[in-house]
Amino acid sequence: SIKSSFKNSIAYYGDMLRREYMSEQKIIGEFEDALSMGQFAMFLQPVVNMDGKIAMAEALVRWIHPDRGIIAPGSFIPLLEKTGYIYKLDMFIWEQAVKRLAYWASIDRDDVSISVNISVKDFYYIDLFETFTSLVEKYRVDPKRLKLEITESIFMTEKERQIDIINSLKEYGFLIEIDDFGSGYSSLNMLKEVPADILKMDMAFLSMDKNASKGRKIINTIITLAKALGMFVIIEGVENKEQLDYLSGTGADYLQGYYFDKPLPVKKFEEYYL
Ligand code: C2E
Ligand code: MG
Ligand code: MG
Ligand code: MG
Repeated sequence: SIKSSFKNSIAYYGDMLRREYMSEQKIIGEFEDALSMGQFAMFLQPVVNMDGKIAMAEALVRWIHPDRGIIAPGSFIPLLEKTGYIYKLDMFIWEQAVKRLAYWASIDRDDVSISVNISVKDFYYIDLFETFTSLVEKYRVDPKRLKLEITESIFMTEKERQIDIINSLKEYGFLIEIDDFGSGYSSLNMLKEVPADILKMDMAFLSMDKNASKGRKIINTIITLAKALGMFVIIEGVENKEQLDYLSGTGADYLQGYYFDKPLPVKKFEEYYL
């Protein structure tokens, strides 16, 4: 009955919250140690052009936990964002990314770039302009090879401030990428106000459910819009040949997804793609 399923769901959520609270205390406690012990690693997922050739990689963090194995970011990033710790992890990942870019240039592969994720919280805890410019200066990397992924969440509070920061990064030479486009509430306004070079479409529009044909129409229209604004388009979440075949005729520029490869340890990525 409705009543008993309501009761069950209360019990379920209560339990979940208790578990979440426990793991919150635990994870925050473990986090600093884990960072200093080198348990976080940058993984790289290939992003290919329409001919299937490597164009860039997205840097995605993994927690290599001694007891729990490889932990995906979904389970700890929200917590680090809530507590503000996220900037420490992000700064670590960004430096790994810039180091790789420097190494790739040294082996004549400066054609491959890297995208890094930025949390809205990072805008408040650190000076992003100072952080990114000193990184590329330290490792002598062309800022054009570092793509900064931001999401619609930067529009939730003090958007003018965030836009100023993004403008300064763009002016310096970094490329700006809008991640998960279309999943939030301010997408179109963001296109107008953020000087983005690349639009990465949210994977929801690719899903093969009963609304798949609507999803395809949205993909086509967004690509047309992005092109009119002079942006490149990445389609994220490509999982099968059918999606690939469809996307070939859309005018998208780059593809990313399990169909090509999952996020890989750096060494594996370099072995397969460089
Ligand atoms: P995102 O930036 O949108 O990254 C794409 C996510 O989609 C990744 O999940 C990737 O593994 C996954 N993915 C790629 N291809 C496919 C596919 O074909 N199908 C499906 N179902 N998924 C696919 P991941 O690595 O678990 O990361 C989740 C989210 O965590 C990221 O979403 C990003 O928002 C955040 N994140 C990851 N690494 C970092 C980081 O270093 N810093 C920050 N601030 N956030 C990060
Ligand atoms: Mg991303
Ligand atoms: Mg995304
Ligand atoms: Mg995301």
